[in-house]
Amino acid sequence: QKQVVSFLDGNASMKALLGGKGANLAEMTRAGLPVPPGFTITTEACLHFFKIGNRISEELFEQIETALQQLEKQKGQTFGHASNPLLVSVRSGSVSSMPGMMDTILNLGLNDVTVQGLASLTNNEKFAYDCYRRLMQMFGNVVLGVESYHFEQLLHRLKEDAGVDHDQDVTAEGWKSLIEAYKTCIRVKTGQDFPQHVYEQLRMAVEAVFKSWNNQRAQIYRRLNRIPDEQGTAVNIQSMVFGNMGGECGTGVVFTRNPSTGENTFFGEYLINAQGEDVVAGIRTPLAIAALQDEMPAIYEQLLGASKLLEMHYKDMQDIEFTVENNKLYLLQTRNGKRNAQAALKIAVDLVHEGVLTKREAVDRIEVSHLDQLLHRGIDEQAITDVLAKGLPASPGAAVGQLVFDADTAAEWSRAGKTVILARNETTPEDIHGVIASEGVLTSRGGMTSHAAVVARGMGKPCVCGCEEIRIVPSEKRMMAGTKIVEEGDWITLDGATGRVINGAMPLHEAKMTDELLVMLKWADEIRTLKVFANADNPHDAKIARQLGAEGIGLCRTEHMFFSPTRLPVVQRMILAEDKEERLQALAQLLPMQQTDFDSMFEEMDGLPVTIRLLDPPLHEFLPNLEELQKRHAQLMYEEEASDEERDENAHLIRKVQALHETNPMLGQRGCRLGIVYPEIYDMQIEAIFRAASRCIDRGIRVLPEIMIPLVGHANELKILRELVEFVAEQVLGKEKLRDCPYKVGTMIEVPRAALTARQIVAHADFFSFGTNDLTQMTFGYSRDDAEGKFLTHYVDQKLLPHNPFQVLDTEGVGQLIDIAVNTGRCVKPSLKTGICGEHGGDKDSIFFCHLTGLDYVSCSPYRIPLARIAAAQAFI
Ligand code: ADP
Ligand code: MG
Ligand code: MG
Repeated sequence: QKQVVSFLDGNASMKALLGGKGANLAEMTRAGLPVPPGFTITTEACLHFFKIGNRISEELFEQIETALQQLEKQKGQTFGHASNPLLVSVRSGSVSSMPGMMDTILNLGLNDVTVQGLASLTNNEKFAYDCYRRLMQMFGNVVLGVESYHFEQLLHRLKEDAGVDHDQDVTAEGWKSLIEAYKTCIRVKTGQDFPQHVYEQLRMAVEAVFKSWNNQRAQIYRRLNRIPDEQGTAVNIQSMVFGNMGGECGTGVVFTRNPSTGENTFFGEYLINAQGEDVVAGIRTPLAIAALQDEMPAIYEQLLGASKLLEMHYKDMQDIEFTVENNKLYLLQTRNGKRNAQAALKIAVDLVHEGVLTKREAVDRIEVSHLDQLLHRGIDEQAITDVLAKGLPASPGAAVGQLVFDADTAAEWSRAGKTVILARNETTPEDIHGVIASEGVLTSRGGMTSHAAVVARGMGKPCVCGCEEIRIVPSEKRMMAGTKIVEEGDWITLDGATGRVINGAMPLHEAKMTDELLVMLKWADEIRTLKVFANADNPHDAKIARQLGAEGIGLCRTEHMFFSPTRLPVVQRMILAEDKEERLQALAQLLPMQQTDFDSMFEEMDGLPVTIRLLDPPLHEFLPNLEELQKRHAQLMYEEEASDEERDENAHLIRKVQALHETNPMLGQRGCRLGIVYPEIYDMQIEAIFRAASRCIDRGIRVLPEIMIPLVGHANELKILRELVEFVAEQVLGKEKLRDCPYKVGTMIEVPRAALTARQIVAHADFFSFGTNDLTQMTFGYSRDDAEGKFLTHYVDQKLLPHNPFQVLDTEGVGQLIDIAVNTGRCVKPSLKTGICGEHGGDKDSIFFCHLTGLDYVSCSPYRIPLARIAAAQAFI
């Protein structure tokens, strides 16, 4: 089996086998570009190496020797020859680009003998010994594991003793003495000598590259970027060209377009008389590529020509490494250049206008996860000096404000016109008014899908959560980061995109829908079939959603309307009512409030569907905290001036709260169970919806209400509540007006039983909306709050699960339930409308699944809509 492939025999399509670098070197060779000859040891060889216990098999080494002999013929040089030595580089090259993760060794093949050969061959002793000391440095570090600072120290001392500032001013004698020092250093640190035998060097170098696949840096990078461990890395063996032979030589990197703006201008840097990584290592300050036009005009033209050719060939902006040896240009690498989100958009749009890409190709190329960068305010990076800590980047964007440690203060200060940042150990639904009032949220506990994170993302507010480096002490109104103390009222800045918590108020720049983004979104809309709706609980969010292209509201959670400080007491009175009479009184008070909410939602979404979910959470979420009530009770007992009435009232409250206590509220009296036991609650909500609809119709607004019943598990639940909706609708609107209000009634599918009995449930439903948050909880039997950051993190780390199922939809299990429900539902009722409205609605992989399963829409938080529009188009492509 062939485990070694010459650059002459490979091509770009062999990336999986040859790695990115090897495949592109072969492709450039085929295109007739000046690439130093060489060959690639395949990723399969690497996997075999691991399989047989980190060993290079005899068979593989023979193939390497054969390829090397061919290379010797091509170059007219011999590996290890005393007077005409072949030198090579040993370069790692993985399939997915892993910048800086693996190390490269240059000038391999030099030893005490061949270095003299190289010196006389090139008539340049200084150059030859410079190459040799570089080899020892790289080999010593990468292969033998000697920390590079040992070598750097010796080099530094040499230059100091010789009184020179720059490496290129060191003499041949200087390099020779350094080489002796390096030899000793290697012997002392490792107990072995630098290998003089060149084949020994080669074998060790290849082994080291293979093994570097499993070093810690590489593993962490792979996990972060979801690159499979089973890929393995290829190794490229390439004949050396020298940029460090004198003034007619150099090395550099160019981008075919500007990677930070996307502008179509040649961009890059180079160094005269330098080798390999000198440019990036910052040993000397490189020159802008424009200077090469004056210094080496012919080379510049040739480089420009090759760059254009490569860009056309790969149909994308290229990042190219080159070296000039004695006025001859060589290309050493090309790859699709990294770029920021705005540059990516501009380049893709420009390439379409230049006729290089089709619109589809351009849309397909957008990395949707990067769009987050664009849709939020950002921090002026130059200004950042004092980063206090780093937490999880839970909701992108930048926020500046004065620090507060409780929701009430946040609300109070914000009313007084201050901008605030709310810092809590963790947030609960009771903090919601504080979250609304602040610019951003910081928590010290909780994961990417903790309450704070979900709520903040939904509102498009920056959030950093799980910032464990910070100790928040709300009772003292301050927090500690290391030795630093930040107090209430101090200014801080949050960077939700990176998780940074920054001391002080940083200057921000506004987010903008750039022209390129608008163009790209238009193209995406032309392609996609999946609709994109928004989760929005208030008119403000609805407005933003519509601006960002929402085609309707997929989820309006009515309970969020209950949390405002003026309404909560009424809601509490409703819940704590002694009898129906009292409850009806409180509900009557809530009715006009809800009606205004819906009224403005309908107005904002004129002509588009608005899906309203009736009350869902367990009632105790609205009640005062039991512990606090008990504390207050104790206080009242000792306070002389407390009246009996006060005491009684508090005791009564305690009894009520205790009575409503549930062992497991998630599985308790919530959702439609609440609506069935207390029909007057849903009755009020439905009445408010249709009254608002009626008022809107009078004003000439087109209303399309879709009433959603949560947590249905049995068809009879939906049957009763549908009858209630129909009854109230007719009562409020009358037969006549009903015709102008084509409403729908449907259910959230979030209990596995509902999915399994879709055949029965669909009889009473116009639509199914998959509430994938709860459906995931109930399908796995994981309580989300008890899973994330705890055993679930462990599961993902140990690869028991491929992803956190609350972030990426579990297509295997939860997805199967969705599939069953959609298919049986449609079988019975072809007009059934289907969509999802969980957190997953804004996740690319999950959107792909929704498209494939044939759902009609996904619903996500307003700020993720552009992302979802593009992902939906990509799913179609
Ligand atoms: P990385 O993936 O870290 O960029 P590379 O394998 O591309 O590592 O090599 C590191 C540096 O060495 C680059 O600047 C590259 O251009 C240079 N280099 C690699 N092989 C050769 C060679 N055969 N001749 C001259 N320079 C080389
Ligand atoms: Mg490189
Ligand atoms: Mg739910």
